[in-house]
Amino acid sequence: MGKEGFIEALVRPTVRALTPYSSARDEYDGQGNEMIFLDANENPFDNGLNRYPDPHQKSLKKLIAQVRSVSPDQILLGNGSDEVLDLLFRVFCEPYSDAVITLPPTYGMYAVLAGINAVENIEIPLTSDFQPDVDQILEKAGAHTKIIFLCSPNNPTGNSLDPARVLAILERFSGLVVIDEAYIDFSEAEGFVPLLKTHPNLVVTQTLSKAFGLAGIRLGICFAAPEIIAFLKRVKPPYNVNELTQQRARTTLSNLDKVTREIGELKASRAQLRKGLLDIPFVKEVFPTDANFILARVDNARLRYRQLVDKGIVVRDRSSQLGCANTLRFTVGTPEENTTLLNTLKILDT
Ligand code: PMP
Repeated sequence: MGKEGFIEALVRPTVRALTPYSSARDEYDGQGNEMIFLDANENPFDNGLNRYPDPHQKSLKKLIAQVRSVSPDQILLGNGSDEVLDLLFRVFCEPYSDAVITLPPTYGMYAVLAGINAVENIEIPLTSDFQPDVDQILEKAGAHTKIIFLCSPNNPTGNSLDPARVLAILERFSGLVVIDEAYIDFSEAEGFVPLLKTHPNLVVTQTLSKAFGLAGIRLGICFAAPEIIAFLKRVKPPYNVNELTQQRARTTLSNLDKVTREIGELKASRAQLRKGLLDIPFVKEVFPTDANFILARVDNARLRYRQLVDKGIVVRDRSSQLGCANTLRFTVGTPEENTTLLNTLKILDT
């Protein structure tokens, strides 16, 4: 890996040839309070939100770059990481000819986005302990396979992927390896961002929706080599991250004490919840987790799901996922919510 120009060669020809849309704020970046802005057809009456947001999210990227020890040109921001994932398809995968590899059971959006973008989804199941089958993956990766999607910690299983296996895929696959780290801050592992220095085919996605407690603002983050980021920027809608989101994300990232405290509390609650689940007679197996949820195998997932809903508690039935028959996924709630969940599970009819 690391051959000159290999990223450009992976990009769809249409995107390579594209002249990106240039917004008013691209031509003049909106700096300077003394200026009169008559360039963007905005409403001039100041209400705090009458101007378009910064399309390059410079101040927010600077903060994220500090927090994650990367440079701002290694960052692309999206309207949730779902938008980032969609952009990766649209930049690198040619409809009706390219393919991606996904490893079920995993986050369902990769398959949905492959379908939307008319890209073949080659599914290579995780092993029985939910790890990538490296040889199978590399064997199935063909000349038109552009991206391998890895999710670590994985949703819905909760486990982290073995770093040695991830590294083997990164080093032996000549396309992009996208590692979805939506849940990385609940894990003891450092994650794969530091490998960006040595692996130009690596893309890491993260989000403020989980550990940062900001699912409502929709902010997804993509870390990758500047060349990859530059191609993604060509295709992203100019103002895809709105002003309120940028403001709120900056506030949260400028004061990480609360986030760190909450992560610590959720990890402690996760351990308690895990212990409690193991004591429930109809819980057959509780899978190891590095995320803010726990997957557990029960006697009859459909029945237990319905019983919980009747008692006012909504969990996720993941039974339809490969290798996940009769499983429920429990998000870690507040200590009170977790206690109510466990007390309710204890009294369900058997
Ligand atoms: N990746 C994974 C693994 C997820 O579980 C989720 C959300 N459930 C996402 C990405 C999407 O996150 P966002 O809110 O940033 O779109």
